[in-house]
Amino acid sequence: MIQVLDSLARLEDELAPWRSTARRVGLVPTMGALHSGHLSLIERAVADCEAVAVSIFVNPTQFGPGEDFERYPRHLELDLAMIEKAGATWCFVPSAEEMYPTSPPEVTVDPGALGEILEGSARPGHFRGVATVVAKLFALFAPAAAYFGEKDYQQLAIVRRLARDLSLRVEVVGCPTVRQPDGLAESSRNRRLSPAERRAAPVLYEALSAGAAAAATKKSTAEIEAVMAGVIGGEPLAQLDYAVARDPASLGLVADDAPELRLLLAVSFGDVRLIDNLLASR
Ligand code: AMP
Repeated sequence: MIQVLDSLARLEDELAPWRSTARRVGLVPTMGALHSGHLSLIERAVADCEAVAVSIFVNPTQFGPGEDFERYPRHLELDLAMIEKAGATWCFVPSAEEMYPTSPPEVTVDPGALGEILEGSARPGHFRGVATVVAKLFALFAPAAAYFGEKDYQQLAIVRRLARDLSLRVEVVGCPTVRQPDGLAESSRNRRLSPAERRAAPVLYEALSAGAAAAATKKSTAEIEAVMAGVIGGEPLAQLDYAVARDPASLGLVADDAPELRLLLAVSFGDVRLIDNLLASR
């Protein structure tokens, strides 16, 4: 039976015996509305660890004004059934009041320069909110390993730096993006697409694949980016935010002869903003 930890006091009661015996606890942070992408993280953690905590917290501090915090899908009962089936031990569902005794919190984690570009520039403050809540979850669970999806590639890069720069004793494990058969990356936000938008949404993966094919023929970075933008531009329901080819570690600009690139896209369908990314080699 999955144990639901709905308060910090319950978390302390449950985790204390595990801490004292130094057994391997895995953590999978999520915002709920779980799908097969989340499930792949939980299954990986269950295979790797003696006990696994899945957190479900729609973190208000990582949403900007006018973003989809209120409309973010919430399906706790379905989520709990999925988490239990996947073999996790605990599901942590804290209240915002307990997570943030003052609102907004006075002390936060600065994600650095990586937090300012791409998603960080489109969503000011987003990665400060992410870095802060992830640091809190690491402090609460002291996990041996924590599991994050490559789907949110910039987030994964920032969490790796957070663990490194603050010497947090946690192994950050990146897991591959899970996609629908037509290439659309699984995302809780896909549920907010209209039927026509859902039919159009695989254009993100088509653009990334076209970009990767262009990279394989040794095209310049600008040409690769133009190929991706062209594919998105051909879909009337899609509005391109960015289509870039960057250094896989720093997400900074790359030379035209860099052998490995990370292709990253952000595209809106109405008020639903989707992101995706792919590794490309030249
Ligand atoms: P979220 O609930 O959207 O905050 O996501 C929680 C975790 O699941 C993050 O580490 C995401 O990167 C990961 N995740 C979301 N979608 C996918 C996917 N399609 N494939 C793999 N991991 C994913």
